[in-house]
Amino acid sequence: MFDLQSLLRENIRTIKPYSSARDEYTGAEGIFLDANENPTGSVCEGEFNRYPDPLQRELKVRLGEVKGVVPEKIFLGNGSDEGIDLLFRAFCRPGVDNVITMPPTYGMYQVCADINDVEVRTVSLTPDFQIDVEGVLAAVDQNTKAIFVCSPNNPTGNSLADADIERLLKEFNGIVVVDEAYIDFSNEVSFVRRLEEFPNLLVLQTFSKAWGMAALRLGMAFGSEELIAVFNRIKYPYNVNILTQEKGLEALQNVLKKEMMVQDILFEREMLTDALSKLESCEKIYPSDANFILAKFKVDATALYNQLVEHKIIVRNRNSVTLCEGCLRITIGTAEENKALLEAIKELQAVVG
Ligand code: PMP
Repeated sequence: MFDLQSLLRENIRTIKPYSSARDEYTGAEGIFLDANENPTGSVCEGEFNRYPDPLQRELKVRLGEVKGVVPEKIFLGNGSDEGIDLLFRAFCRPGVDNVITMPPTYGMYQVCADINDVEVRTVSLTPDFQIDVEGVLAAVDQNTKAIFVCSPNNPTGNSLADADIERLLKEFNGIVVVDEAYIDFSNEVSFVRRLEEFPNLLVLQTFSKAWGMAALRLGMAFGSEELIAVFNRIKYPYNVNILTQEKGLEALQNVLKKEMMVQDILFEREMLTDALSKLESCEKIYPSDANFILAKFKVDATALYNQLVEHKIIVRNRNSVTLCEGCLRITIGTAEENKALLEAIKELQAVVG
């Protein structure tokens, strides 16, 4: 039986959270002399002298409508990276507990673990970039608190099989984090729909990719009310600033625009995949469900990467990553940017080849 309370660190289970002034009184009207703000206004243009809603209530109500989730099951943070960090701080005892990741995958799981002095057990994806379910379950011990599943996976771009994720959710008694940062670019159904089924599920999504709002830093985490309540107890009081809350609301009034941008990026992904795979220097392009592709080259990928940098075209060199030898991860740009990339590679393949 999954029991969230017994999984928590003792100090977190018993913590008395900081109670901010705006937690206690939520009315919009009144004379606010409770938060040591400047009553006269802001030095910069705009009205920024008051602290924002610590729980982003309005934004969560609207987001909940779009996602089909009640606000109590939503956590919003300073990017989805905040959710990753909170997970470590809530559940993992430094120097004692461990988590499992499946490389090649997103680097912040390891970084957050290192910051929190938590062991990372790595169980590589299979050569076709799927979950080695038996391997992962065999790596679990009584101190394993979380398994990180990134789907679509960064940097490989593919989605992981639902049936494998389901098995982890059913057979592992800790938290299964399903990081869906790139889900809008895929045809897969989000695990957000399955929160009722799995009390140990935490789904991460972000406004940084499909919504085109990376600079605003707005990340989402969806989980049981009990789990989200833990995150709300330990987060910084005003973790999402007012501009971000306002722009988040604005974006949610225009879901269609996000979908149109996604369609454009998917079209460009096809064009770029097709053009790159015809190049002499390109060995293969892995199928992608994301807004980037993993391209394997016959030529020295690091040399190619360096030459591209000289042309002021920056991609991600994954040559030294296990299972990604010879690979560059390339974000889908605009039609012009992709054309410039292709021309540069054509010009360079003679040099680095
Ligand atoms: N998860 C994955 C898989 C990512 O690739 C990224 C960003 N590169 C993030 C999470 C973090 O996104 P953000 O903090 O911008 O929401």
